[in-house]
Amino acid sequence: MTTQKNALVTGANKGIGLEAARRLATIGFKVWLGARDARRGQAAAEILRGEGLDVEWLALDVISDDGVAAAVKTVAVQAPGLDVLVNNAGIAPGYVDALGPDGRYERPPSRENVAEMKATYDVNVFGPVRVTQAFLPLLLAVSAARIVMVSSYLGSLARAAGNSQSPNVMGYGSSKTALNAVTLSFARELAPRGIMVNAAAPGYTATDLNAHRGGRTVQQAAEIIVRLATLEPGGPTGGYFDENGALPW
Ligand code: NAP
Repeated sequence: MTTQKNALVTGANKGIGLEAARRLATIGFKVWLGARDARRGQAAAEILRGEGLDVEWLALDVISDDGVAAAVKTVAVQAPGLDVLVNNAGIAPGYVDALGPDGRYERPPSRENVAEMKATYDVNVFGPVRVTQAFLPLLLAVSAARIVMVSSYLGSLARAAGNSQSPNVMGYGSSKTALNAVTLSFARELAPRGIMVNAAAPGYTATDLNAHRGGRTVQQAAEIIVRLATLEPGGPTGGYFDENGALPW
């Protein structure tokens, strides 16, 4: 008899997270659909359950220590462990307002707002750290758990340094650079304990984050996330990937 595997996706009530949750449930995971808002979380879980998928809303605000601790308890009483954690929740405050009529990002770093940057780091950097630390006992309770950090091409210093066409989004981009560093740190610690930790770049995707200006679909974006969440044992760890392969840090 095989036991069902468990996956948690944060920020899964819409956008790329919802699609990643759908894909993981479709291939047989029980998916814990993390969402900070009860109404939005339950509505999303309802949609996926209506598609015949095994999905449960999990109250999870990634910036709340108490909320994350409560989420761990909820999962722990119902599941023997956690096979997959997708740290997907993310924000880009001010991004949409800074898009010009042609869709180009027009706010220079000298006009970015420190309070917004702090809020961005709270969700995009400290959120994944908090959630990963809190769920670690459950991730260690299974063999070869996978952690996927949903990063961005904008987190790549190599791209920023080498490509002047890359939009200069200081707060959001640097939060993803920090997330890439966090990915490597956890990967180094957890490799000897059998957990694979990788960062995914989903590409510029039409979601609320960018007022649907992105050119890719959530189905395309979820591809690399699901691939990294379902790596074969012994697969890569401490990497940064899009669907075509490894990316320069
Ligand atoms: P989205 O549609 O705006 O979805 C973001 C999700 O994160 C929502 O479910 C949102 O919940 C949730 N969230 C925000 N703050 C949260 C918090 N404190 N606790 C828990 N959940 C929270 O954006 P998306 O495009 O799907 O983004 C998903 C991930 O992909 C993000 O990490 C983003 O940086 C990354 N990404 C996106 C693109 C792109 O072009 N779209 C490109 C590269 C990387 P609410 O509904 O409650 O706000």
